[in-house]
Amino acid sequence: MTGGAGFIGSHVVDGYLRRGHRVAVVDNLSTGFRKNVHPKARFYEVDLRNTTRLRQILHREKPDVVNHHAALAEVVRSLRDPLPTLEVNVLATVGLLIACGEIGIRKFLFSSTGGAMYGEPRKIPTDESEPPTPLSPYGLSKMQGEEVIRFYSRFYGFPHLIFRYPNVYGPRQNPKGEAGVVAIFAGLMHGGRAPTIFGDGSKARDYVYVGDLVRANLMGLRRGKNETLNLGWGRKVSDREIFDTLARLLPFREKAIHAPFRKGEVYQIALSARRAARVLGWKPTVRLEAGIRRTLKVAYPALRLA
Ligand code: NAD
Repeated sequence: MTGGAGFIGSHVVDGYLRRGHRVAVVDNLSTGFRKNVHPKARFYEVDLRNTTRLRQILHREKPDVVNHHAALAEVVRSLRDPLPTLEVNVLATVGLLIACGEIGIRKFLFSSTGGAMYGEPRKIPTDESEPPTPLSPYGLSKMQGEEVIRFYSRFYGFPHLIFRYPNVYGPRQNPKGEAGVVAIFAGLMHGGRAPTIFGDGSKARDYVYVGDLVRANLMGLRRGKNETLNLGWGRKVSDREIFDTLARLLPFREKAIHAPFRKGEVYQIALSARRAARVLGWKPTVRLEAGIRRTLKVAYPALRLA
């Protein structure tokens, strides 16, 4: 498992261990945290760009499945300074795939993005037939990441499964990051400070609770061969709706601050997961308010929610 110290990857590691799998984690802790890594997982603090170390680890661990969650996952950072994002998300992914080919793995799973892949989609909910037209180097890097996976999967003959995630939220999401709207708003509002909404609040995303993605990563161990699958509810949730839901639950009585829209960010998107339902039998189950409640309870255990 790469990126197993990060927000989503660490939950997938927990899910795999709960099912009795053995897990080794490779993560350089650039945006992840050691405390997120389950004590039963073997941990290697290694940068994926260190291909020599990475090869050694893969030859030693000989995993059946490689689940690749490590990435630089920030849109605005990728606009400011694109090369590190492309280096990690594309080139380091190639290094990983070559090492996987050498040892002969059974399957390669990848966390791609639906939210940053399709640009402004022609149709919402958006399905996998929408042509990728990313608006940021981050989106481009995930698109290229997908392509190198398809190539090396064919080249070496191991199957792959690519998930295009929507906006993901849940416990362990870093409130100091740039993207996790639920974590950022909750952190500020819990501290009594008004969050900033970029635009008038109508910018909208499809939000899925992290536990639902763990289920997809478990199902994907057995099902789905050489598939690219959107995951999502197919429902647009606006920044305003996230703000209002948090304001009601916390409760928080001030108004949000408004700032101009940011370049490179999609205005509105929601993902159709009909294909994932057919191929994996996957559907999201945790509705927005229930997911936000769970997230707040873990982040702020002393809080009494409305
Ligand atoms: P995260 O930043 O919490 O996790 C990424 C992990 O990768 C971190 O632990 C980080 O330390 C590690 N990492 C980064 N560069 C590395 C390198 N060079 N070598 C080794 N480890 C490295 O982010 P996340 O939100 O958990 O995202 C996980 C994956 O899901 C990413 O691939 C991201 O592109 C994808 N994704 C996330 C979302 C979302 O809403 N959070 C949406 C779509 C796709």
